[in-house]
Parts: sequence; C-alpha cells; structure tokens
Amino acid sequence: MKTAEQVTFGGSGLDRAAHLRGDAMAQAQMAADPKARCLLLWRGKLLVEGERLERLAWVAPAHPLVTEGPGGEAETPIFLGLDDTGAPLFAQDISAWGAEGQDLTGLGGFVDRSEQQHPDLPEGQVFAELRRIMTRLSPRDAELAATAKAVIGWHASHRFCARCGARSEISQAGWQRGCPACGGQHFPRTDPVVIMLITHGDQVLMGRSPGWPEGMYSLLAGFVEPGETLEAAVRREVLEEAGVRVGAVTYLSSQPWPFPASLMFGCAGEALSRDLKIDPLEIEDAIWVSRSDMMLAFAGEHPRLLPARKGAIAHFLLQNWLADTLD
Ligand SMILES: [Zn+2]
Repeated sequence: MKTAEQVTFGGSGLDRAAHLRGDAMAQAQMAADPKARCLLLWRGKLLVEGERLERLAWVAPAHPLVTEGPGGEAETPIFLGLDDTGAPLFAQDISAWGAEGQDLTGLGGFVDRSEQQHPDLPEGQVFAELRRIMTRLSPRDAELAATAKAVIGWHASHRFCARCGARSEISQAGWQRGCPACGGQHFPRTDPVVIMLITHGDQVLMGRSPGWPEGMYSLLAGFVEPGETLEAAVRREVLEEAGVRVGAVTYLSSQPWPFPASLMFGCAGEALSRDLKIDPLEIEDAIWVSRSDMMLAFAGEHPRLLPARKGAIAHFLLQNWLADTLD
C-alpha cells in the first residue's frame, strides 16, 4: 500500500542510535549535552504543550524530576535516540508523583480528557492522554510518544524476572532488563494484532464490542496466537467472531499502538459469503456496511453509524477503501 506509512504512528525515520545504548560513557556524555532533552510520562500520559496540546514538552535531563524522581527513586531514563540535529532524546517515568489537588476523574476511562499540571513544571505543560492528542502531533512527536509510552509501560509491568522471579534491573539505556539472580535477559515486548478490512462486493464487515458508545462500529481485530501466520489469524478471528469464512488475505499497513504494547497489522480479506453468525462472547454485533453508508458515516450524516475514530488504523484503512487507494 503506497500510503501505508501515513497512518498515525506511521513513523518518522527517528535515528534510534541503538549502538549507543550499551555504552555507559556515551550515555553519560549525551545526558550532559546542553542540547539533550527528556520527555516526561506520568501513569502513561505524556507531557505536552501548545494551544491545542499539539507538541511534546521537554525538560533538561538534569531536571530533578528526571535525576531523582518525585519520590527520590528515579531509574535510568530511556534513551529514545537522536533528533535531526543530533540532540539526544530521553524519556523518564514520574508515575510516583501523587498529583495532589489535580483532576484525576478521567484516569483509565474510555477517553481521558483530564490534564494534570506538575507544580515544578512551567504553566501550560500538562500531562494528557495520548489517544486524545495523537492526531495533532507531528509524525516525529508521534513516534517518540509511542516509543516512550510502550517502553515505559513495559518496564512498569515487568519489574521481576519471568524466569526466576527475582527483581530485574534496567540495562541497555532502557531497552533491556537483566536479572542479577539468574542472568536472564528480557526485552521490551510488542504484541502482534491483526485488524482486517473484510469486504464482499461493495460492503465491509464492521463489529462492535459491549460497552462501546452507541453507534460505534469498527473493523474486527484480534491478537495473533503463537504458531500462527497473519493470514491465519485474520481468517480465525473473523470466523470466531462473525462466522464469516475468508478467502484471500493481503497485508496493507502496520501501526504501533502503545495501549499498552501492540503492533497492528492492517490486512484486507475477501469474505466468501455475507452470512453472519455472531459469537456474543466475543462481540456484541456485526454488520455489513455499504460504501455509500460508510461515506455518510464519515461525513457524520449517517442516522445510526458513528464515524470511525481518527488516528486509529481502522479509520485509515476505511478512508483508503472509500478513496480506492488500498494499492
Ligand atoms: Zn532471573
């Protein structure tokens, strides 16, 4: 697909400078570089600024929030790479901050619209949920945000060795955890998910999960299982959820999706029939939607169907299906 990398989080060619991760002297020199900057994350939310919160906000790596952390227990920051001027970029998690007096009502909700202002950071630099602001970020900021959120989220849930249970330690500038007890080495995980544009003639298959806002439908999706190809995962998920058999499957575009650690593989599949048999344990409903109905939904003018959410690969694939630009 020619436009594959134009998807949100489609990448910006960031120089990750992986060869510098294991070099302690280079890491120390880069952290002391006056051009170096550090991105802060708090409970999965990113520090952003601007009138529409359209830019990542940065602090110096020498800032006490980076070097000491809110509770005085800061770990090594994550080395994200080098920007186009060669300036080193880092990320640090300050989730230990208690956020006293801040609006915490939206945390963990379907869409978190709350913002938190740390008292030691400039006015206007706030922590915001990535799903809310992802379509406003530049491709570079989006790649940095997705990378930092996924790696920091992995550290937060992998503090102990999966082999022996001992507490593990950050190494390789945040790109690895090592176990001092058994020598085990652990690497940030990315979980493959297939999301599929299943068509039959001029209709596309859409489904909805329980609890979604009324009228919201999306493309079917599911985790790839061990020992399975992407093609097999597409056919299995569609058969399980909607009872539809799928013939030819092709790959279209991929999207890092750091909620918390997925890589979405956008695929196209040709349904062999339109007969539906929904599994109520997996999805609440599945429907075939014609091209003209999808056009109305995208225009916000469909009586029952909400438009797909911008930024998600489902929106991107449907948009390209409508524009006939899937090739
Ligand atoms: Zn171990």
